[in-house]
Amino acid sequence: MQPLKALFPALSGPDNSLVYLDSAATTQKPQVVLDAMQAFYQHQNANVHRGAHALSVKATKAYEGARARIAEFVGVSSAAQIIFCHGTTHAVNQVAHGLAHTFQSGDRILVDGAAHHANIVPWQELAKSRGAIIEPIVLDELGRIDLNAYQQALSNKPKLVALNHVSNVLGHHNPLAKLIPMAKRAGAMTLVDGAQAVAHLPVDVEALGCDFYVFSGHKMYGPTGVGILTGTLAALEMLQPLMTGGEMIKQVSWQGSSFTKLPNRLEAGTPPIAEVIGLGAAVEFLQGLDREAIAKQESQLLTTARQGLQRLGFTSYGDPNNCHGALAFNLAGEHHQDIGILLDQQQVAVRCGHHCAMPLMSHLGLAGSCRLSVALYNDQSDIELALDALAQAKELLH
Ligand code: PLP
Repeated sequence: MQPLKALFPALSGPDNSLVYLDSAATTQKPQVVLDAMQAFYQHQNANVHRGAHALSVKATKAYEGARARIAEFVGVSSAAQIIFCHGTTHAVNQVAHGLAHTFQSGDRILVDGAAHHANIVPWQELAKSRGAIIEPIVLDELGRIDLNAYQQALSNKPKLVALNHVSNVLGHHNPLAKLIPMAKRAGAMTLVDGAQAVAHLPVDVEALGCDFYVFSGHKMYGPTGVGILTGTLAALEMLQPLMTGGEMIKQVSWQGSSFTKLPNRLEAGTPPIAEVIGLGAAVEFLQGLDREAIAKQESQLLTTARQGLQRLGFTSYGDPNNCHGALAFNLAGEHHQDIGILLDQQQVAVRCGHHCAMPLMSHLGLAGSCRLSVALYNDQSDIELALDALAQAKELLH
């Protein structure tokens, strides 16, 4: 495989000794993304959809071109199914707020026991406002969904099932090809949080068959400030807008206002235009790579890391045979934060804490953990350097 690290200015250059293993928090950006955003501001900067001038037409073309590219990338047939949000958190909030009018007291929402807080708290707020009931999906001892317990929970006829695609802590890839049809047979709508999936796996939203699929641009080599809500047209059309104002209306008078069609109906105000164009460039970048080879390489890196951690006497969590992107670990008797600080002193960047997945942490009996996460720019030398730094940290602490 070509050395991809050289395409990322934050990771390359002669004096760069950073070992970046925190891509699950946010990925670094390739030069092509930075260039696309700069070119927009230098040569195309205008507001979209509303200017009666050539520059606005250019900006609108680039913005809508990115929407069409992203639709193709995640397997949805119409660009109107791509709603630009600020990120996954915003997208889940839009769905929870947007569906609230369909919920009644006693309706149930089944939520992945390994979900990120972004896929828990908005449902709790919905439950509070409508008198609905939240039920966590039971996990097994490794943190995987327990299929029998899931089947059992579906017999209570939940109105909605909220799932992870890939866990941001353990890297588990949920068996959505089973979980979504099971939810559908029980009559539930489904939302899949793809924040940790899109950078690592090919995603085909229509083949998955979920109602809603959400993800963030900044975790897939794009900029911060832009994410995607997608799904079926029928499901998206059910949503009441989370925000109202300019861009999303058909007609406004003092007697009241009516809203326009998707996607603009859910995109009030001036959108993050440069960020959308940057995300379009990130998608084009990914489309030009051998993603199967990258997935294989990332998986090899995590296997090497897990074996190394074991050799050094660290404990790693989750199912070693189902580990994508992220790997959580601890050293018995030591605080995860101390390990993180000692790694940082050796230019190794990882994340330490509860990873915005407190219910999963308490299921695993942990206050927190270290997490290393890989992306397409990492190589074996990054893992070797991280393992050397971990050995050093252990020696210092013991
Ligand atoms: N869901 C998962 C699985 C995540 O890993 C994250 C971020 O770490 C989020 C949701 C929230 O994403 P954002 O902060 O971009 O909205």
